[in-house]
Amino acid sequence: MHRFASELFPICRSITGDGVRETLSRIGALIPIQVTDVPTGTRTFDWTVPREWNIRDAYIKDPSGQKIVEFKDSSLHVMSYSTPVKGMVSLQELKQHLHTLPERPDWIPYRTSYYKEDWGFCLRHSEMESLQDGLYEVCIDSTLKDGSLTYGECLIAGQSVDEVLISTHVCHPALANDNLSGMVIATALAQHLSSLKLRYSYRFVFIPGTIGAITWLARNQSRTGKIKHGLVLTGIGNRAPFHYKKSRRGDAEIDSAAGLVLRSGSEPYEILDFTPYGYDERQYCSPGFNLPVGCLMRSVWGTFPEYHTSADNLDFIAPDTLEGSLKLCASILDILEHNETLLNTNPYCEPQLGKRNLYRSTGGASISDEINARLWVLNFSDGQHSLLDIAERSGLSFKLINQAAADLKTGGLLIAA
Ligand SMILES: [Zn+2]
Repeated sequence: MHRFASELFPICRSITGDGVRETLSRIGALIPIQVTDVPTGTRTFDWTVPREWNIRDAYIKDPSGQKIVEFKDSSLHVMSYSTPVKGMVSLQELKQHLHTLPERPDWIPYRTSYYKEDWGFCLRHSEMESLQDGLYEVCIDSTLKDGSLTYGECLIAGQSVDEVLISTHVCHPALANDNLSGMVIATALAQHLSSLKLRYSYRFVFIPGTIGAITWLARNQSRTGKIKHGLVLTGIGNRAPFHYKKSRRGDAEIDSAAGLVLRSGSEPYEILDFTPYGYDERQYCSPGFNLPVGCLMRSVWGTFPEYHTSADNLDFIAPDTLEGSLKLCASILDILEHNETLLNTNPYCEPQLGKRNLYRSTGGASISDEINARLWVLNFSDGQHSLLDIAERSGLSFKLINQAAADLKTGGLLIAA
């Protein structure tokens, strides 16, 4: 995953353009991706698909003719959606188009101007401070014209047409945690699920943030009823505690599953209530849709100094943290795959487990947990409580509860509710 992030890192992505297509094509080499292009000007609810932005080169030359800022060194050097510019400007005028981080003088900020026509360069504050008076040559060789917005989808079919939505944004340039981590984990998760026999179908959407999610929802409004669970994956590769932001509903099955996996894991975590600010869960959880979609992160947007700066680089994410995040996602999905609501066929007093060989099995300390789990499952399988509910209430692991249910089914004591 880290190697794949390194491969994608230099590609200049934005909300439209060749960088997104190139990224989707690289992802498509690993998992089956269906790419959709939505033309500029298409109305998507209250929004309109913008013009397409592409860039070939950009630089600033100092009064001596030396290049001091070069797009080819880092795609962060150019404000995303900068209009083309070529000419000579004074230092005073140039400074009106420069973005820096005075409090982090050696980092380059990430800036965008999607909906206001402007041009700009981003650079280290220390470099800007050293600029002398004189005439500077500026060049941004970009185009902003009618084209399309591009997104990719990967459907991994399961037994049911009911879907689990996994969404990740693909519009940021050279930023590793936000959100190459989401892209590479979603890709690896799709590869992992492809090898399993699945109950749900899984739809992975690789979309530009905000306008991409809005466009996807506008084009798929009639089929959102199929989405039974969903996760937005973002900022999930750095060394920080997990943060799970609940769906707007707050009591969706994905919220319970994520909470249970985090509580039973060894890594620190925090569970956040839904707020209408954040990533694309804002669109999936807008009141008209109100889908059961949560957001899984490590660091929360805007709360860590490296956020939207050149310090969110490939050293900021690590193979082991990516792996921990992938495993967490797989565990959450594994609960969704196996969660069900069952009915105890013998609800009047406890059934006699001993005569069904369900009271003692192999020796060791695990016996009591194993039998305890069977008693919990029998007691609460009244058609009202799912296995996930029972795991939460009992404090036992989902794996143990699920195994107990399997054993009790075999023993004829449980049926589908
Ligand atoms: Zn971001």
